[in-house]
Amino acid sequence: MTEYVPAQDRYEKMRYRRCGRSGLLLPVISLGLWHNFGNLTPFETQQAILRTAFDRGITHFDLANNYGPPYGEVERNFGRHMDADWHTHRNELVISTKAGYDMWPGPYGDHGSRKYLIASLDESLKRMRLSYVDIFYHHRPDPDTPLEETMGALDYIVRSGRALYVGISNYGPEETKRAARMLREMGTPLLIHQPSYSMLNRWIENGLTEVLREEKVGCIAFAPLQNGLLTGKYLSGIPADSRAARDARYLRPDAITEEKMRKVAALKKIADRRGQTLAQLALQWALRDGVVTSALIGASKPQQVTENAAAVQGPDLTEEDLAAIEAALAE
Ligand code: NDP
Repeated sequence: MTEYVPAQDRYEKMRYRRCGRSGLLLPVISLGLWHNFGNLTPFETQQAILRTAFDRGITHFDLANNYGPPYGEVERNFGRHMDADWHTHRNELVISTKAGYDMWPGPYGDHGSRKYLIASLDESLKRMRLSYVDIFYHHRPDPDTPLEETMGALDYIVRSGRALYVGISNYGPEETKRAARMLREMGTPLLIHQPSYSMLNRWIENGLTEVLREEKVGCIAFAPLQNGLLTGKYLSGIPADSRAARDARYLRPDAITEEKMRKVAALKKIADRRGQTLAQLALQWALRDGVVTSALIGASKPQQVTENAAAVQGPDLTEEDLAAIEAALAE
């Protein structure tokens, strides 16, 4: 295995934004390991994707306890990558993981109890060969566990040194407001929210962004390319090496509708006019409002990371571009 020497100029290629009212800056493009880091992808491919990301100034890698396949395998592989490439760069990285979806059998391996969250993070740390994570998330709201218990567990996780910061994911506006206030009172501010957000999925504009602004909480938007739809790769069918072909569970062919493709084709014309790819336009758009700290992409090839990271060099979005995008989305 060749020794990894990161690109000298990596920090000149990326932009960093402050996460809410915290001291932490995040790259405007972050890399998620949900797909392509389990046991179906060669270690060398994973390594090339991670190295390419860091060489472009992407300092934030996002994981979760049950990313795989099988569950836990992505964290286990990440531990191997840590040993191979990252130990001497640990302080240059922001590593996150989560718990909140099903992880192990029985009543204690799912949802939002103190018992589940603390045990799960302890297992995650072992798999990743880390002594702490930078951000630990509760992965989804749990209507049956008192929010006080879940937030109390997050507070304890920070105080015990297992995580430096905490976040929540997939919470609606009202529960986000309650969570932020509870954590503030406990003395562990809510750093960040991780919702889905893209040109084709704008639910956060319905109240959540306002709450995040009011509460001064950062936001990392996951799936800003809508699983790859917003790259234009499905405009003339389903490529054999795409997510829709490989993993139809997560991108069902029937989700690639004619209506969406009409919008995508119109958006691609705008990207062409601006001299960039549709993926780059979609990322710039997701970041247009400062409330979104970072756009959290996935990648199956290093070249995708290179293309997506270059979104930061794109021409500023003008009022005219934004109006054209709204018109394209109304097609
Ligand atoms: P994206 O919307 O960015 O989709 C990524 C996929 O699109 C890639 O794997 C690749 O798939 C394709 N792609 C990316 N860039 C390009 C390009 N330039 N050209 C062509 N194809 C491209 O995000 P994901 O759905 O992967 O989610 C990103 C991250 O968000 C996850 O890894 C995870 O960390 C987080 N997440 C969090 C969730 C939560 O509940 N908190 C839920 C889901 C995700 P391919 O090449 O295989 O077609």
